[in-house]
Amino acid sequence: MSPRGTLYVANAQQLGALNEFASLPDVAAGTRQLEASAAHALSPCLRGDYVAAALYEPDACDLDVHALHQGYLRRLRDRGGKVVNNAGVTALRRRDGAWIITTDAGTFSARTIINAAGAWVDEIAVLAGAAPIGIQPLRRTAFMVDAPTNSDADRWPMTIDIDEQFYFKPDAGRLLLSPADETPSTPCDAWPEDMDIAIAVDRIEQATTLSITHVQQKWAGLRSFVEDRSPVVGYDPKVEDFFWIAALGGYGIQTAPAVGRLAALLLRHQPVADDMLELGLDISSIAPQRFAS
Ligand SMILES: Cc1cc2nc3c(=O)[nH]c(=O)nc-3n(C[C@H](O)[C@H](O)[C@H](O)COP(=O)(O)OP(=O)(O)OC[C@H]3O[C@@H](n4cnc5c(N)ncnc54)[C@H](O)[C@@H]3O)c2cc1C
Repeated sequence: MSPRGTLYVANAQQLGALNEFASLPDVAAGTRQLEASAAHALSPCLRGDYVAAALYEPDACDLDVHALHQGYLRRLRDRGGKVVNNAGVTALRRRDGAWIITTDAGTFSARTIINAAGAWVDEIAVLAGAAPIGIQPLRRTAFMVDAPTNSDADRWPMTIDIDEQFYFKPDAGRLLLSPADETPSTPCDAWPEDMDIAIAVDRIEQATTLSITHVQQKWAGLRSFVEDRSPVVGYDPKVEDFFWIAALGGYGIQTAPAVGRLAALLLRHQPVADDMLELGLDISSIAPQRFAS
């Protein structure tokens, strides 16, 4: 991780939303309120007449997602694990207390299945005879533009509209922009829509002095939620040896170390660690049991 900081900005119509967010106990503990001039000093591309107030979270960090991913892969291989790609699961059945898993790359057997199929978790559940949890994939778009010349843009915080209408942040010498869209989608290889990029450009140009003429790279992905927008982690209440790690929404990367550690404990029927309980984790709020009718 490397220090970045996050600046939540509000215009005059959004002060209520900013105050409401700022008063949440865990937000209040990690943030401080800023006047418009102080917000402008941190993120100088903001228009002076746009920002009415802001909230700054100094301890927010950039995460090296590639390094994190490679680290997990390395540790898996070090422990004798094997990654099998292009192995779409097409059937699941139980035989003699074990799962038989039919895939495009052959047949596997396992005592326990961990359903971590992202937007596709309900499809896997149906194959296993488990009840779907109502996963809803939501498309989110992001794209890169040049940072303004002669600026210190690499030092700007991540800047987020308090109603999540847009965000931007420095990324390897350029700026990453998003309209923070949440468009319902079926499970698929998501693709960025020109309209979502145009919306982001419009919103960000209204809030900042950035003039966006050239989009260099664009992509979209799915963030998958259940109705209460909390993760789903734990054994299925009805189907034996079927474990869910699902609905990680927009935070599956930054929560991966904690969710992974929690899942490892629950999979082995061990108690939740004290430090997690002290942080306020209520296991029933993420249990798959909450969907059982
Ligand atoms: C634009 C954007 C910005 C984001 N920003 C952040 C952020 O700042 N911080 C953060 O923490 N998170 C962020 N996220 C969210 C994060 O990417 C997700 O929470 C995370 O990827 C979810 O991980 P997952 O393993 O549950 O699902 P996925 O990453 O979707 O993985 C599921 C896997 O299951 C496989 N699969 C599906 N069906 C089958 C099948 N039948 N057989 C075999 N394999 C199958 C898929 O191919 C896929 O590889 C962002 C997402 C997007 C799109």
